[in-house]
Parts: sequence; structure tokens; C-alpha cells
Amino acid sequence: MRKIQMVDLQTQYQHIKADIDRGIQEVIDSASFVKGRKVAEFQEHLEQYTGAKHVIPVGNGTDALQIALMGLGLKPGDEVITPTFTFIATAEVVALLGLTPVVVDVEWETMNMSLDSVRRAITPRTKAIVPVHLFGQCADMEPLMALAKEHGLYIVEDACQAIGARYTFSDGRTAQAGTMGEIGCTSFFPSKNLGCYGDGGAIFTNDDDLAARMRAIANHGMVVRYHHDMIGVNSRLDSIQAAVLDAKLPHLDEYIAARQAAAEYYDRAFSGNPHLLIPGRLQASTHVFHQYTLRLQGVDRDRVRELLQEAGIPAMIYYPVPLHMQKAYQDPRYREGDFPTAERLAACVLSLPMHTELDEEQLAFITENVLNAVNG
Ligand SMILES: *Cc1c(COP(=O)(O)O)cnc(C)c1O
Repeated sequence: MRKIQMVDLQTQYQHIKADIDRGIQEVIDSASFVKGRKVAEFQEHLEQYTGAKHVIPVGNGTDALQIALMGLGLKPGDEVITPTFTFIATAEVVALLGLTPVVVDVEWETMNMSLDSVRRAITPRTKAIVPVHLFGQCADMEPLMALAKEHGLYIVEDACQAIGARYTFSDGRTAQAGTMGEIGCTSFFPSKNLGCYGDGGAIFTNDDDLAARMRAIANHGMVVRYHHDMIGVNSRLDSIQAAVLDAKLPHLDEYIAARQAAAEYYDRAFSGNPHLLIPGRLQASTHVFHQYTLRLQGVDRDRVRELLQEAGIPAMIYYPVPLHMQKAYQDPRYREGDFPTAERLAACVLSLPMHTELDEEQLAFITENVLNAVNG
């Protein structure tokens, strides 16, 4: 049996090696390492894939979020609502820009932002909501978009874990994660569902003016060369990463299908076990399983993790500490106990190996060991 890893990028590379190597070699031959043709090609292919009118490739997903908030022209003191159960980047950029992060609780089943919590958190200073499509499933966007519209708020989707997930509105219309709010952000970090071989990210928008502004911000606020119309940053997707991504994009749908097949295998094995709650699904969204995250109950989660590790099976805790309990984000507005669902999740979640290369033998071994570990 191949070694079990959280993410197996080596095996995935072997299947597409010829295309990847050729793409990288072309970039080296062209010596066009930054803002090269490969970046423009990938941008166009990703616009076709996502249906976003504008894709703006940037240096990473965190920059994508920062440039999005800069593009909206938010000012210090403006409040931005984000879930407390997520990766830190979401709140980090809000704080770095001098905006005020307002954190809200999540749903127990989907682990995504709770609409009721958002509603309660809106104040006259609220300017934007940043839903995170956690673990690869969209937050419930239709009611969230209605709420945002009612209060005149922007939505910036953090789709870093959810590229390719599809949301269906009640009128039957569908849209991809990252293309529903004013702006969507994604990450091409190597372990993400569409990952490059370094750092990378992209911003999505259907708004021409916002697109032009964010494109300039990502390039030192420059519209005409050496004329700087606004304060910007330096955040670019480099050509070698674009070549890797352009070779992988045609495989994204099969990669998603492979993740979903592994998730189904896990679901079948674990459904009905009193100690294991499988990931809750939102009817309106597909799930692209960036992570397969169980909620454990009536067992010692850390002991289960240890037993798995001893069997050679990695398992990770995403995320052990909610934002409002992080040292750097201590805030007199919040204390332990304020967001009970997020805190309960942080104490019981366990993510299993999830990637495109899991075979039946590995899945059988993982599920058998998980069941043994929880059944004692
Ligand atoms: C990965 C991730 C980011 C940041 O992306 P980077 O490319 O690593 O900067 C932001 N938000 C979420 C939810 C993520 O999973």
C-alpha cells in the first residue's frame, strides 16, 4: 500500500508530469517570468471555467482577500463580519487594514457562517460580510445575499477551499463559489483543490470598475506605467505557477469527482456510528471536499488521532482555536463561551486524509482504523 498522506501531490504529479514539465519549460524558454503569456492564458481559462467575468491572478489567497477589501475602499473603523471558525487569513487582512473584524458563530452541521449570527452582528458601521466556504461547501448564499442587499453591504466570498463548488438558487440558477458576491477570492496553495507548486491566488468579480481597481492595486496602484493612482501592493501570480495551474485546470472536475468518491466511501463507512458525525450537507451546494471533517462525540478526539498516527494515518485538526480565542485577536468585545458552536467544533473536529489519489485499499485501511479507534 502506498504511504497514506493528508495530501498526495507526488502521485498526482506523476499522472500529469508531461504537461506540467512542458508548461514550466515553456516559461523558462520565454524568460517571461512575471506577467507573461501563461498568466494571461490561465486567466482566460479560469474565467471560462468559473463563469466569472474577471479573474485577477494574484500572489496568494491572503493577498486576494486584502486586495478585495482595498478595492472596496473600506476605511478604518468599518466593520467586516466573518466567521470565527476558519483559517486566520480571513480576519488577518481585516485587522491589517485597520478595519474592525466582527466575528460570528457557525452552523453545527455545515460548519459555515450562521445567518442568524450575521443578522445579529450587523450595526450601522458594518460594510462587508466575508463568508468562508469552509472545507469545500458553499455557505448558504441566497439568504445571505438577501440580507446584505437589505442592509447595503458588500459580500466578499472566501472561496479559498471551494473552487468548483456550485450553488443552486431557488429559481434554479446556479453559480460557482466565488462568483456570487461582489468579489470572490481563491487560493492556489499547493494543497488546495486547484494547487500550484508554490503560492498563488485569484480574485473573481463581475464588476468592470472593481476589476480595474483591484488589478491596479495588485500592481502597485499603477494604471499607466509609473503613474500611481492609489496605494497598492505587489502581488502577482508568477508565470511558472500559471503554467502549473493551466496544466491542472482541465483536470479539476475529475479531481473534484475523486474527492467526492472518497468522501462517499467515508460516509458509507461512518454513517450510523454513534461516535462519528459525517459532514453535514447544504441542499443548495455541492461539496468539493477540500477537507473531509468528522465531528467526534463520546470519545477522546486527541486519543483517536494518536491511534491513527500510530497506524500510519495522518489526521488533522482544522481548526483547534476559533478566531476570538486566538492570542493575537484578543478583544474585550469577545470571550470564551460567546460562540458556542464554533468552540464545540474546535474541540471535536478531525479531518481525515483527503486528496485525488486515495485508492480503495487506502480508504479501507483508514476507515477500519478510524472505526477501531472510536469503538475502542
Ligand atoms: C488557504 C486559505 C486562505 C489563504 O490562502 P493563501 O494562499 O495560503 O494565502 C484563506 N482563507 C482560507 C479559508 C483558506 O483555506
